[in-house]
Order: sequence, then C-alpha cells, then structure tokens
Amino acid sequence: MASIKDLLKDILRPSYRSLLAATHAGHECRCNLCGREFASMRPLRGLHADGTSYIIKDGVGSCWKCNSYPRNRALWHWLVNDFKIEEKVDFELLHIAPEQQLADKFLKMPGIRYTAVDKFCPGYKYAKYVKHADVTDLPFQESMFDMIICNHVLEHVKDDSKAMSELHRVLKPNGTAVLMVPIDMDAEHTDEEKPDEELTGDERERRFGQYDHVRMYGRDYFERLENAGFHVEHIGFSADLVKQLALEPKDEVIVAMKK
Ligand SMILES: [Zn+2]
Repeated sequence: MASIKDLLKDILRPSYRSLLAATHAGHECRCNLCGREFASMRPLRGLHADGTSYIIKDGVGSCWKCNSYPRNRALWHWLVNDFKIEEKVDFELLHIAPEQQLADKFLKMPGIRYTAVDKFCPGYKYAKYVKHADVTDLPFQESMFDMIICNHVLEHVKDDSKAMSELHRVLKPNGTAVLMVPIDMDAEHTDEEKPDEELTGDERERRFGQYDHVRMYGRDYFERLENAGFHVEHIGFSADLVKQLALEPKDEVIVAMKK
C-alpha cells in the first residue's frame, strides 16, 4: 500500500520536473531521450550509505526533465543510429535493472517483445512491467533473447562470473548484450571483495566508488567477458556528440556478442 507521502511525490514529480526543465532551458546540450534542450545538465549526484547525497560532477549530468544519465543518452544514440533498434521485428529484448527512460521507449516499439527484470529489494518500488529475477539464476531457457541490456549491474553482484555465464546462456547465438559497468581504465586488474569478505558501506565507497558496489573493474573486465564466451566491442563517441548530448568524454557503449 503506497503511503500518502509517496502518492503526493508521484503526483507532484512531473510538475516539478517540468519546472526544472523550463528553468534550465537553453541550447548548449540536448537530451535525446526526451528531446529537451538545456544550458547545461543537472549535476550528477552520488549516494552515501546513510542516504545523504553529494555532487559528483557539475555540467555533465542527468537530464532536468527525464533524469537520463550520460550513459543512457550514449546507449540510446548507439541503439537508434547504429544498431537500428527501431527497425527490428520479432525482436526478443531482455532488460535487466531497466532504466525507465529506455524502458518507456522499448515498450512503445511494435517490433520488440520486451521482458524487464530486476532483483526486488524491500523498500523499493518497481514498475508493473518489471518482474523479479536474479541475474545469477535467470528464469529463462537458453538462447531466448536477441539482445540483453544489463547496465551498471555486475559491479553490484558478488559472483559476477556466474552472472556473465547466465547472460551468455540466455542470449541467442550472434545475439548482442550491452554490459556497461564503471571501469578504472588506469587499473590493469579488478579490485573486489573476496568471496568470503563483507566490507562496510564506507569501505566499499572508498575502494569501489559506491557503498553497494562490490568491485571496481579494471581493464581485465573485457577478459572476463571473453572468458564467459563473448566477443567484446567498445563504441566511443565523437567530441561533437559528447558536447551535444552532454556525455562523459570517456563513456563507451560496451557490447558483448555471443560467439
Ligand atoms: Zn531527458
């Protein structure tokens, strides 16, 4: 049962977002998910273990209107312009921990059969179209999906090799998985909790950048995906596009194909 506070938030949020979008309107950058233009994006915020937030970065950030992140806009650009997702027919798409702005687009595409799952946690609300599933034990037959989108999930999962093997199992041969994670490209090796270790939120934040991350991937992330049977490609963006869509300059779409 939703509380009155939650109901009020749901009712007021669209008006608040419209007001924010109008206040920050301009022509310096554009959100390709909602189509609005801004003078600059909303500063990106991180969350501490105690629930308080802090500003990670000014300028390059989330959309004032639809809250898209730079990585969402980067992925949408690639999906539409390079992958041509809008032209697919009878296309089975699995979206894990779905980003709402992307889900809203997929749900409207007649050629896409859309399945969205998340690992349900107490205290969180999930959209009606989302079902519960654990990425290390997916409730699907093998070779079911043409595409899987699973972004910023694996850094939360203790047994990421099991998750990668499950993603590989349910993907069709020659299918495409989009598996973006935070990567420290200066580090050769991943820094992570040991299987029998349980670090505090503060320690995880210090080492991995967020209280509920169990690792910070290094450049060996790609090797891990290859070991799980994927062929990996990185898609970067031009300086012009980085500016237009307010992307993170180092952001890449990481695409893993089932060999
Ligand atoms: Zn937007």
